Amino acid sequence: MTLGKEIDGKAFAATLRGRIAETVPGFVEQTGRKPGLAVVLVGEDPASSVYVRSKGKATVEVGMNSLEFKRPATISQEELIELVEELNADDSVDGILVQLPLPDHLDDKAVIATIDPAKDVDGFHVVNAGKLAVGDPTALVPCTPLGCLMLLKDELGDLSGKEAVVIGRSNIVGKPMMQLLLAESCTVTVAHSRTHDLAGVVHRADIVVAAVGRPEMVKGSWIKPGAVVIDVGINRVPAEEEGKSKIVGDVATAEAINHVAAITPVPGGVGPMTIAVLLRNTLVAAHVRAGLPAPKGL
Ligand code: NAD
Repeated sequence: MTLGKEIDGKAFAATLRGRIAETVPGFVEQTGRKPGLAVVLVGEDPASSVYVRSKGKATVEVGMNSLEFKRPATISQEELIELVEELNADDSVDGILVQLPLPDHLDDKAVIATIDPAKDVDGFHVVNAGKLAVGDPTALVPCTPLGCLMLLKDELGDLSGKEAVVIGRSNIVGKPMMQLLLAESCTVTVAHSRTHDLAGVVHRADIVVAAVGRPEMVKGSWIKPGAVVIDVGINRVPAEEEGKSKIVGDVATAEAINHVAAITPVPGGVGPMTIAVLLRNTLVAAHVRAGLPAPKGL
């Protein structure tokens, strides 16, 4: 049996970051300032701290300003909302990202609702979710699903008429992924925890996007021969070596590789796309806020 191809998300993301870095100087020339991304981190969660650090580094690398606002886990809802309002009013800030999850006493929906939709580079505000749903091209679209779509279009070109199955219905990945694929004229099915015969549903698909959070749940035999599979899952599991752990996706890649035309590996597939698209969204938001036409080729 021939092996399918691994989609190199790391390389694609590097190319996208390169195009962003080439576009930034033109923005600086026209506006006299750099685009700015503000990231708010509440508490000391180690994984969130790592994400925030790598976002800051990637932002600076493409020539944009990175502003980090670290606040203790004890911050009140009012104080956090006040910070977001200050960032809304700050003209040097084009993008605002509040790193989730927030500590339990904070209401993430209320915090996200406070972000100016024009600066909502995560695309989580209901205004942007609504714009995506009605096909308004000014929507800021959540980074991970937009990154998945870029990889799919790069692999397949025209997606029109393809049978797509998205596993997972979260607001962050599953639902926006469904909207994006529908906008590309795919026939979309959204599967979730209550779906009957998930294997049968997945077997119909030319395109599978797995965003569940269950290690290697999607088996190779479920995949229709020649399908393209995007594995969004990030799951930490014990490694073969005692005391060590490793990251695996939602798809049993070692089996699936024998069925697919192409699949994203974990790590190195979707993961690197998320930050690159965040930078893209920030640059787009900066152009729109400055009254400039959206940058081409991003
Ligand atoms: P979530 O927990 O909000 O949603 C999971 C979804 O999976 C739910 O809609 C649920 O209905 C569905 N589900 C649960 N069990 C199921 C089952 N047995 N069969 C079918 N569906 C089932 O998670 P999320 O935020 O959407 O993230 C999903 C995964 O993607 C996680 O592993 C997360 O770490 C990863 N993720 C990766 C990136 C990235 O940058 N690569 C970004 C966001 C999320």
